Amino acid sequence: MARPIQALIHTQALRDNLAGVRQTSRDARLWAVVKADAYGHGIQRVFEGLRAADGFAVLDLQEAHILRDLDWRGPVLLLEGVFEQRDLELCSRLDLWHVVHHEVQIDMLSRHKTQLAQRVFLKMNTGMNRLGFAPARFRSAWVRLNALPQVDEISLMTHFAHADDAQGVDAQLQVFKDISHDLPGERSLANSAAVLRHGARPEVTADWVRPGIALYGSAPDHPLHDAAHWGLRPAMSLRSQVIATQDLKTGDAVGYGGVFKAPRDMRIAVVACGYADGYPRHAPTGTPVLIDGQPCTTVGRVSIDMLCVDLTPVPQAGIGAAATLWGQASTGEVLCIDEVAAAAGTVGYELMCALAPRVPVSVN
Ligand SMILES: *Cc1c(COP(=O)(O)O)cnc(C)c1O
Repeated sequence: MARPIQALIHTQALRDNLAGVRQTSRDARLWAVVKADAYGHGIQRVFEGLRAADGFAVLDLQEAHILRDLDWRGPVLLLEGVFEQRDLELCSRLDLWHVVHHEVQIDMLSRHKTQLAQRVFLKMNTGMNRLGFAPARFRSAWVRLNALPQVDEISLMTHFAHADDAQGVDAQLQVFKDISHDLPGERSLANSAAVLRHGARPEVTADWVRPGIALYGSAPDHPLHDAAHWGLRPAMSLRSQVIATQDLKTGDAVGYGGVFKAPRDMRIAVVACGYADGYPRHAPTGTPVLIDGQPCTTVGRVSIDMLCVDLTPVPQAGIGAAATLWGQASTGEVLCIDEVAAAAGTVGYELMCALAPRVPVSVN
């Protein structure tokens, strides 16, 4: 028998999540952000569920290629733009739109030989200090781009650092408006958190929204709100089974280092899932997991191929019992990836992106 672990991608959940985000975005068009191979889900696997998007936003040319190979004819946006001169040839050939966040990219464009002018998104650094032109240099960048025959339409964008927390988007939004108010072109500002938390303001959703994490069913502002609060459902379930049980006596230790010692006589399960599957090794004793759909918790250290679970809530569970590491159990109960991430001191993004290639994935 094959090792029982598997990941499932839920096409209908992707559709529903996209529809929900769209509803909050008013008339804005929607980039489905599928960088990092669709946050670990696989671009090919999510394509069907997300094809109602107006465009796909990707990291690099390889991801853009995958979308064109899937016969996606609509817009594709390179979120960090081109990395080298010859990338621009593929932008022409594959009809890709690209972000321009640095003078070096304008230099490349000015040297690019093409009949086809390209659509670009000029990025302003409004305070995150990662990518983008400083406000004081944004307008001169726009003027320079606008003078290039290689450039067609120029859209304006920025990215929020605090859309998911109490600081919010006001300060960055003000900078963006002050600098760009009289420039023509479409605007794109909002990631998932900005759409969900600040989407009531038309200036936030603007012309294009750029949700990523929400499409995959994770709350961008967990633990302030959970996915259910935002009406989101998991797009990925990581499921496995119990492959052994142990009856522990008080004081018996579990796993490497014996960091968990049974406080009383208890039964535990060994589940076929470890950090080589992408499960976080840092998940401590007490991390949530579903056994036969019932809420349980891990005990001891996560091993490379296994982890252990306290069976106290499900005394009848034995070998072959269903384990849901995150997502939806086959019986319908949900363990949100954000809860597992929080226990392990990280975010849902990292867990979904870390799903290991050895885990078989199917789409339903
Ligand atoms: C990743 C990314 C997004 C999507 O962010 P989420 O938090 O996943 O919604 C939007 N815009 C840019 C520029 C990004 O890099």
